[in-house]
Amino acid sequence: MMKRTVYYLFVAIFCFTVSWVQAQQYDLLLKGGHVIDPKNGIDGVMDVAIGNGKIAAVAPDINASQAKKVVDAKGLYVTPGLIDLHGHHFWGTVPDRYLSNSFTALPPDGFTFRAGVTTVADAGGAGWKNFNLFKEQVIDRSQTRVLAFLNIVGEGMRGVVPYEQNLFDMDPKMTTMVAKAHPEIIGIKIAHYQGLEWEPYEKAAEVGRNANIPVMVDLGGAGASDSPLPLEKLFTEVLRPGDILTHMYGGDHSGHGPKEGILDANGRVKPYWVTAQKNGLIFDVGHGGGSFFYRVAVPATQQGFWPNTISTDLHTGSMNAGMKDMLNVVSKMLDLGMPLGAAIEASTWKPAQVIHREELGNLDVGAEADVAVFSLQQGRIGFLDSSLNKKEGDSKLQAELTIRAGRVVWDLNGIASATWKANQ
Ligand SMILES: [Zn+2]
Repeated sequence: MMKRTVYYLFVAIFCFTVSWVQAQQYDLLLKGGHVIDPKNGIDGVMDVAIGNGKIAAVAPDINASQAKKVVDAKGLYVTPGLIDLHGHHFWGTVPDRYLSNSFTALPPDGFTFRAGVTTVADAGGAGWKNFNLFKEQVIDRSQTRVLAFLNIVGEGMRGVVPYEQNLFDMDPKMTTMVAKAHPEIIGIKIAHYQGLEWEPYEKAAEVGRNANIPVMVDLGGAGASDSPLPLEKLFTEVLRPGDILTHMYGGDHSGHGPKEGILDANGRVKPYWVTAQKNGLIFDVGHGGGSFFYRVAVPATQQGFWPNTISTDLHTGSMNAGMKDMLNVVSKMLDLGMPLGAAIEASTWKPAQVIHREELGNLDVGAEADVAVFSLQQGRIGFLDSSLNKKEGDSKLQAELTIRAGRVVWDLNGIASATWKANQ
């Protein structure tokens, strides 16, 4: 009799334990935050549950007892982890190699999670000759998801002169082969070309077509305004819908002259820029150290010309200047009047679509759990542009919590952490 009682007791304890463990089916529950998930049309208070590194549920009221850890997200914004479409992360220790295996580029993890970013795209640091080194050195060793625009120049961004000017090092065949061989390569970059030919852009476009990936154009060179092929033709005849023009608010800084910037001599947005955007060309912020000016961005946005994608152009020349980090750039767009939902879309779901990685930038159930939690700081705020001129504002976003593949990788104020105890 006694034996039987012990047996039933054991079975009862076992069943209770199993049901309790099953009840805690989620590893982490973000409770009561304002969820913004543009892909799924969510913009309101919602709970987000995470289990096994994936989004497990997004619903109005998920029972807290179902989760091993509950984070009170009341008063905070919960979004997909941000995607920075234009950074420079091919860092290394070889002197004088500019943004390709050298000091001017930056290791991703030191700059991403603290700004709510979980995915970056390196914008052309590597070409087909050194992509493997970039992969071994950075992609495979970063917690941040690192993708890449492969440079049309074989040496990548080893130096504006002579490397980025070397037409003989722009090999569409080899670039296409390497681009097709690596899933991390999500686009092609052409940057800083100073010659009068459009050949580099045409070669980049050829690779983009063959590998079915977008081309990102950086018109940082000096000669484009004198080119026999006007920028309008680049937009309409060389590039395809889905290709990207970065540094959209750079204006006349890069030597193109006001004629080839976004604004005409009267400060009006040129109609062919508007037409190009309507026809599917992607306009990207690419703030950087010299590509975002309020004298351009204020009139352009007042006339309704907004970015499709928001990005940093992060490198040593921008990290401590006007750009600072991805969230500062997003906050600058909010300050210019971009609605929060649109700014989050331009830094999550839109870039995911642009690089044909639609499994990213959203909170689909089953998606890898890359999530950012933000607070909106209010007070005396100032934003700087690339001339270090100030625009006063009254609010900016701050990254409170960043989750990458279900793991907390940034917890600014310990909202997902246990309180310390004397015996621990
Ligand atoms: Zn750049």
